[in-house]
Amino acid sequence: MPANRRQFLQAAGNLAVAGSLPIVTRPSYAKEPQALLPIVDTHQHLWDLNRFQPPWLKDAPPVLSKSYVTKDYLAATAKVNVTKAVYMEIDVAPQQQVQEAKHVIDLSRSKDHPTTAAVISGRPNSSEFAAYINQFKDVTEIKGVRQVLHVDSAPRGLCLEPTYVQSIQLLGKLGKSFDLCMRPTELSDGKKLASQCPDTRFIIDHCGNADPKAFLDNNQSSEEPWHQVDQWKRDMDGLASLSNTICKISGIVARAPKGWSAEHLAPIIDFCLLQFGPERVVFGGDWPVCLLGAPYANWVSALKEVISQRSEKEQRQLLHDNAVRLYGLG
Ligand SMILES: [Zn+2]
Repeated sequence: MPANRRQFLQAAGNLAVAGSLPIVTRPSYAKEPQALLPIVDTHQHLWDLNRFQPPWLKDAPPVLSKSYVTKDYLAATAKVNVTKAVYMEIDVAPQQQVQEAKHVIDLSRSKDHPTTAAVISGRPNSSEFAAYINQFKDVTEIKGVRQVLHVDSAPRGLCLEPTYVQSIQLLGKLGKSFDLCMRPTELSDGKKLASQCPDTRFIIDHCGNADPKAFLDNNQSSEEPWHQVDQWKRDMDGLASLSNTICKISGIVARAPKGWSAEHLAPIIDFCLLQFGPERVVFGGDWPVCLLGAPYANWVSALKEVISQRSEKEQRQLLHDNAVRLYGLG
C-alpha cells in the first residue's frame, strides 16, 4: 500500500504500464473509448473532518487524512458520468452515528449533486439497535445499514450472535438492506447470516474484499495476500447461491499491487459477474479510499476495460440500471 502521496501518484502513473506484473494470460481488451454510460455510484464516502472524525483515519495513509466533501467528489468524477450516488457510512465513533445519519438525510434531500440516498452506520449487536433503526424506518433516503466487520473491534463470529441476527432480520422487515464488509476469510459467516435472514437484502461490499494480490502468479507481491483464491471463490459462490445477496463491484483497486492494470482486477470482476449474474451486481466508487490505488476515473476506466466485451445491456445493468432498481432510486 503506498505510504505517501508521492508514491500514490507514482502508482497512479504506472497505470499506463499494462501487464507489468505477471498474471495468467487473458485475451486483450478493447481499448476504444466508450460512450459515457450513466453511472450510479453505490459507495460514495464523504468526510468533513470539521464535522466528523472517524477514529480509523488516525492510522490511515496520508492521502486519506484530509476532508473530502461534495465539491471534491464532483471534481473527482468530472469526466465520469455519475448521475446518482449513495453515501456510504464512514465508520464514525458510535456516539456520532445519529449525527452522521441526520447529516446525510439532509444531504440526500438537497440538490446540485448526485447524492440521493445513504447507507448508515449501525451496531446490530447492541440491544439499542432496534430503537436506533426504527427512528429512520420511514426515511426513504436511508436504504440500509453497514457495520465494518474487518476491524479489530469486530471479532470473528460477531455477525452470528443472536442479537446481531435478530437486528438484521429487523432490517429486512423495515425494507432496509445490510452491507457485508468483512474479512475475505470469513465470508462463510456472511453466508450463514444471510441464510438466517432470507427477507433482508445483503450487499457484498468490495467483491467480498477480494485482494488482487492473491491472483498474482508465483506470489510476486512483497505483501502477503489477504486470502487464498480458492477459498474466496468457494465462499463467494456460496453467497451468490442465496437469492437475497447482491455483489458490489468496488474497493478492489485500493488493494491492487503497485503498477496494476485492468488485467489484475479482471479475475475478481469476471468471477463476481459470473456467479451473481448480470442482474445482481452494482458498481461502487469507494472514493476517496480508491485513491490508495488510483484516481476515481482510472478505476472506472479499468472496470470498463474489463467489461468491454460484454453487451451494452449488461454494462448498463452493472453501472446503472441494477442500482436504480435494487436501491429504488427512481
Ligand atoms: Zn468504502
